Amino acid sequence: MNSTASDTTGIAPEIQKLAPVILAEIQTAKSILLHCHPSPDPDSVGSALAMKFALEGMGKKATVIRGDSPIPEAFMHFPGATTISMKGFAEINHADFDLFISLDCSSPDRISAEYASFAQNLPFKVINIDHHASNVNFGSINLVERTLPATAQILYELFTVWNVTFTREISGNLFIGMYTDTGGFRHTGTTVSTFMAASRLAAVATDFPDLISRMYNSNTPATLAFQGAALSNIETFLDGRLALSSVSHAVLKQKNITPADMGGVQISTILRSVKGWNIDVEMVELAPGLIKMSLRSQDEKQFDVSQLALAFGGGGHKVASGATIKGLSLDEAKKQVVAKAKELYTL
Ligand code: 5GP
Ligand code: MN
Repeated sequence: MNSTASDTTGIAPEIQKLAPVILAEIQTAKSILLHCHPSPDPDSVGSALAMKFALEGMGKKATVIRGDSPIPEAFMHFPGATTISMKGFAEINHADFDLFISLDCSSPDRISAEYASFAQNLPFKVINIDHHASNVNFGSINLVERTLPATAQILYELFTVWNVTFTREISGNLFIGMYTDTGGFRHTGTTVSTFMAASRLAAVATDFPDLISRMYNSNTPATLAFQGAALSNIETFLDGRLALSSVSHAVLKQKNITPADMGGVQISTILRSVKGWNIDVEMVELAPGLIKMSLRSQDEKQFDVSQLALAFGGGGHKVASGATIKGLSLDEAKKQVVAKAKELYTL
């Protein structure tokens, strides 16, 4: 399908403007590096794979590396997922590449925890394509389209301008990225243009129900042990407006739960389903002094949780954001997050 969205929905002006600039960089490159962000989600993996197929269609060599984290088993059926090189940034030869396209990352630490250590010596240009409000424009070229709910939708519009053929592989990966980053077309930011794009992609990737259901039906027994532990340890604060679920490192060890078992539905998303739990916090103590925090909000106007994430060195979107908290015990982290929420929001 050679799709043009411009006839019905329009292409975001920033995408229209930067599409030829980015294409010119690609045309002079031979070997292009793509990656997945730490704790990758389907928008990260799907966008990287879709871009890889599009670049290969232009005759380029394109390599997707997994980056800092393993690729969850639940995403391994995405078209092309088995071609992902299971290497981190420190395990590749940077000289093998002459261009790096960063997708779905708001800042260098979201590319890789190791990125700062080699950013000064990179032998290639960096193109930054992202939709996070908190993006810090770290690239040589920055296509940051904050109005769109998924990086995959930015790529849909970009590929439309570039006249990329929407193959089954490209369409399936973009569809799953858009579907998940919009919370199944539920988050604010989902618009008619999202549905237009999704319907065109679904018309090609006709196996889209299978793509979705296999992702949600790839749990391990340890996934349920994790969810059980998290859901049986919920505390509420601030007159019941903030709900906080936490899992300690000791519990992870005792139940043999690994980060790969924590994919799928975020606990913070489950907390958000409870009426009146306006601010939803999930904390997982991956190791002593290392806590992964995931935040959700029921109301982006009153409770913009990206502000809470930013206060702890993280970022994300108004309704869904996160941070990695280092050097604090679980109890201390809870205290500080609750205190910061009390300061930030009018309750
Ligand atoms: P999740 O809660 O699903 O892991 O992440 C929700 C959103 O927050 C995603 O858009 C993700 O990019 C962002 N996010 C999660 N963890 C971090 C983090 O450690 N740092 C930053 N800057 N953003 C994060
Ligand atoms: Mn995204």
